Amino acid sequence: MTSGVRPQTQPPAYGVREADWRRAVELVRDAGEVALVCHVTPDGDALGSMLGLGMALRRAGKRVTASFGDRRFSVPRMLSFLPGQDLLVEPARYPAEPALMISFDAPTVDRLGLLAPNAGKARELIVMDHHPSNTGFGTLPLVDPSAASTSMLVEELMARLGLEIDRDIATCLYTGLVTDTGSFRHASTTPAVHEMAARLVATGLRTDEIAREVWDRSPFAYLKLLGAALERATLDQQAAGGLGMVWTFVPRADRAAYCLPYDECEGIIDVIRRSDESDVAVVLKEDDEGAWQVSTRSKGQVDVGRACTALGGGGHVRAAGFTSHDSLEETIARFRSLIGPSA
Ligand code: AMP
Ligand code: MN
Ligand code: MN
Repeated sequence: MTSGVRPQTQPPAYGVREADWRRAVELVRDAGEVALVCHVTPDGDALGSMLGLGMALRRAGKRVTASFGDRRFSVPRMLSFLPGQDLLVEPARYPAEPALMISFDAPTVDRLGLLAPNAGKARELIVMDHHPSNTGFGTLPLVDPSAASTSMLVEELMARLGLEIDRDIATCLYTGLVTDTGSFRHASTTPAVHEMAARLVATGLRTDEIAREVWDRSPFAYLKLLGAALERATLDQQAAGGLGMVWTFVPRADRAAYCLPYDECEGIIDVIRRSDESDVAVVLKEDDEGAWQVSTRSKGQVDVGRACTALGGGGHVRAAGFTSHDSLEETIARFRSLIGPSA
């Protein structure tokens, strides 16, 4: 951080080295074509950060390609309102060896899925991320765990590039901010978060419509899926040295029965983690390939990010995840063993 008081209308400087910001500005300014990628099964921060910068770069005259490396390439329903989706191409149509590639919200190269090989072949790979578990991959990592969202780093890069944020771009960046802070509820909600929100809201974006799209609607079948997941929730009060763990799972057969895609399971963890009796909450979601995608949360006493990183995933102290190809029982037992001794 630089010292001194900054005017509140400017984005704050993050813990990225000044020389790295300058290099990023040079690389982007000199590029005619930029290939953007975000992590697989994108959330609001991953897709919002990517599309927001993508629209600004296109307006600045660059040729922009954006994608994410899922085998089933589709934008989650809850993010279908995001502007800029005409930038998206399927992974198969993505440049094989981009001169300049920028990755968003991915702590490891594996999280780029089908596009990880393209990232490996990119001449320059700028990595914009805020996960403490980021491995430092890429030729230019712009990683700051003190940022509440990757979209905060994108706002700073745009300011340094002199790119204006219009309402559509603001909608994308705000979606990243509001989803990663859990609607300004998580501990990551600093004054800088609210200041950025104020700048974005001033463009005229609709906070009410974004909130409704992201949190307050779903197909009726989701209520049934949620009901089944709640029905099989287990409270394990001995886990994590007596701090407790509540957990449940969503087999793909449930989703098939209700004709719901995988991304509809994302909100279940926010209901499960309410339980007063546990510091830790876990939802295991079986994806279309039969692997368990494990979402974990803590109220702060247990570092779930460390446990998930040890299991090949990543994340933050209070919100993290990993992928498991083992059985449900083995997967939950391994995670349980990593969050501390039983009481
Ligand atoms: P989620 O539970 O999917 O909302 O993810 C919570 C946090 O953990 C986010 O910061 C994700 O980026 C991170 N995360 C989730 N799954 C993985 C994974 N398989 N590998 C690395 N990080 C993950
Ligand atoms: Mn993310
Ligand atoms: Mn994020």
